[in-house]
Amino acid sequence: MVFEHVTKRFGSLEVLPPIDLTLENGEFTVLVGPSGCGKSTTLRILAGLEQLSGGEIYFDDRAIGRLEPKERDIAMVFQDYALYPHMNVARNMSFGLRLARVPRPEIDARVQRVAKMLSITHLLERKPAELSGGQRQRVAMGRALVRDASTFLFDEPLSNLDAKLRAQMRTELGEMRDRLEKNMVYVTHDQVEAMTLGDRIVVMNEGVVQQQGTPEELFKRPNNKFVAGFIGSPA
Ligand code: ADP
Ligand code: MG
Repeated sequence: MVFEHVTKRFGSLEVLPPIDLTLENGEFTVLVGPSGCGKSTTLRILAGLEQLSGGEIYFDDRAIGRLEPKERDIAMVFQDYALYPHMNVARNMSFGLRLARVPRPEIDARVQRVAKMLSITHLLERKPAELSGGQRQRVAMGRALVRDASTFLFDEPLSNLDAKLRAQMRTELGEMRDRLEKNMVYVTHDQVEAMTLGDRIVVMNEGVVQQQGTPEELFKRPNNKFVAGFIGSPA
């Protein structure tokens, strides 16, 4: 995935000055930076939930920056879960597949497979209000993973969880990363999450990409004081 001079303005507010970015296929990329630096906007542009102001996004040489979200082969997990309160877990997970008219037996098979992977099989009949925060987060991930897209986007999926659950989910995400071999772009303001999960990390500040590299590269050779301070390396 390549961002070429991607810009985003909200009225007179320039949130993203031109961004150039390459996300390698099959990698788990973490976008990390302080609150308000433009991480969610970058992800939403990639998903097609926000319009580009300028530039283009390429996915395997195909320009996708102006396609409808459903034409992009991308699934997104939201920070606030965004589950449908009146539907049980199984129906929340299968909603998009039903809209896309995927045959019923295949929907059932995919829901079962993903539910098993996320250890939520016993919750499939429950409504979101009957779930804990961690369970809701798993369901939100399940709803994206059943889509079988080539690329999954995560916007601070653990930020509403308590510290203990966050640590546990971080471990599970790491296992999922190793098993799935999909393109994953994960947004967080948490350096520990970034350093433990990322194959590659993109550090942003005020809309500007400060550095991208492996956790080790960022730690050992930060480009500037901001990166050094944010990642916590001694430079
Ligand atoms: P992050 O996810 O890194 O916290 P965001 O991408 O949500 O940052 O926001 C970046 C900047 O864009 C912030 O200043 C935010 O207030 C602004 N912003 C985000 N969405 C909108 C919007 N829909 N309209 C106006 N400003 C927005
Ligand atoms: Mg955000």
